[in-house]
Amino acid sequence: MAYFYIVFLALLVACSGLVSSTFVWKHHNNEELPLVLEEIHEKCPNITRVYALTEPSVRNVPLYVIEFSDSPGFHQPYKPEVKYVGNIHGNEVLGRELLLGLADYLCERYLNHDRKIKTLIHTTRIHLLPAMNPDGWQLSTETGAKDYLIGRNNNHSVDLNRNFPDLDAITFELERQGINHNNHLLRDVTRLTAPVEPETRAVIRWMMAIPFVLSAALHGGDLVANYPYDESRSGAPVSEYSASPDDDTFRDLAMTYAESHADMADPQRQGCRVSNSDDSTSYNFGKQGGVTNGAAWYSLKGGMQDFSYLATNAFEVTLELGCKKYPPTEELEEEWHKNREALLAFIWKAHIGIKGIVGDDSGFIKNAIVSVVNITGPVPRPIRHDITTGDYGDYYRLLTPGHYEVTAIHPGYFPVSRVVTVPHHQTAARILNFKLEPKTSWFDDYTYGSFPYGLHDGQPRIYKRSLYEQVTNMMLEKKDTKH
Ligand SMILES: [Zn+2]
Repeated sequence: MAYFYIVFLALLVACSGLVSSTFVWKHHNNEELPLVLEEIHEKCPNITRVYALTEPSVRNVPLYVIEFSDSPGFHQPYKPEVKYVGNIHGNEVLGRELLLGLADYLCERYLNHDRKIKTLIHTTRIHLLPAMNPDGWQLSTETGAKDYLIGRNNNHSVDLNRNFPDLDAITFELERQGINHNNHLLRDVTRLTAPVEPETRAVIRWMMAIPFVLSAALHGGDLVANYPYDESRSGAPVSEYSASPDDDTFRDLAMTYAESHADMADPQRQGCRVSNSDDSTSYNFGKQGGVTNGAAWYSLKGGMQDFSYLATNAFEVTLELGCKKYPPTEELEEEWHKNREALLAFIWKAHIGIKGIVGDDSGFIKNAIVSVVNITGPVPRPIRHDITTGDYGDYYRLLTPGHYEVTAIHPGYFPVSRVVTVPHHQTAARILNFKLEPKTSWFDDYTYGSFPYGLHDGQPRIYKRSLYEQVTNMMLEKKDTKH
């Protein structure tokens, strides 16, 4: 009898989910950070993997990532990939600790059979990079963790969030020329105005290696979810709304974070910098729903957010997590409770819109273009930002609710268009697959040249590569002479 009672108790403990966490809320230093990740991996070996990016920081600190997936190390078709990047500015440290806490939470809830977390991990591949700038963190911490600027930059005194190639300049120039080449613009960079730092290079290689769909960078110093573009079209330093082709979707992504956060979207809260009225960077973002377009706040060049959108298929926003850049240890746990639901709700957004596979009779088509027109209103609105299929022919197209015409294009095939309705409150993207028919003769493409840059059938088929190069060259030269 006693035996059955013990078995019963053991079952009760197992079912009530008493796998407890040993995670401690504190500022983890650069030696402790990988140990925390390793410990989580040991607790959840089947759903995690710890790895370092291809290059370490200037001072040789590896940039560690923990991945959550039911197939760690492998991309699977239909499974979107998401990333969070913390501590880009070395003295903005809350994101770093929140990502360690999030990793521990995901593992612990998974072991405790939390159905929602299990579904999230089974349907999404999640990568967390707690610290992109460990050297800056070190300097900031050693100098008392108080200064607004010390430790912001990397060990070469470079601001990593100004160090990405400026693809906004390229896209704005193409817009002005009326050329609809609107994605994967890194290949159009012919010259850099500044050397790319090791941390930036590591992150660019990471972005290129993994087919991310959704991303956020975690900063501090204000409380707002900031979305592209960060750079103004006119060059205005502040207050110029710089909409991207996916403005609706980006607003939705930013609002999801803000509204799921304890007080980011609260109109009653104080602004972070209540200073003199001529300070144009002081805003009370609570009064505008906790979100802002980047350049409508202030314009910046070389940021990671716009780079991500213009160089890859990943939609990225920038999250300013609080007024304090380096909050004291005793506030970390409270900040976790304020951010936890927002961090999870944002990851779920990788499942909005549509996804599918583009293929032909014999298999997948890699690098096919997926182009979308919003046909919800009376006037069709093309979204001039195409996305491309990955190694398994799979694509993920984040969209807000509405009706869309979606076209899959690849040189050598007839384009195929389909109409789809994106519903509200998605926890899974609508699946929309395409099977393309090869053109009967290769002669067609040979005559007109291929059109790999999102040009639709019916538009003039000119091979425009040389023109892009001229344009970007001209532009980069102009920029060089300014200095
Ligand atoms: Zn920052």
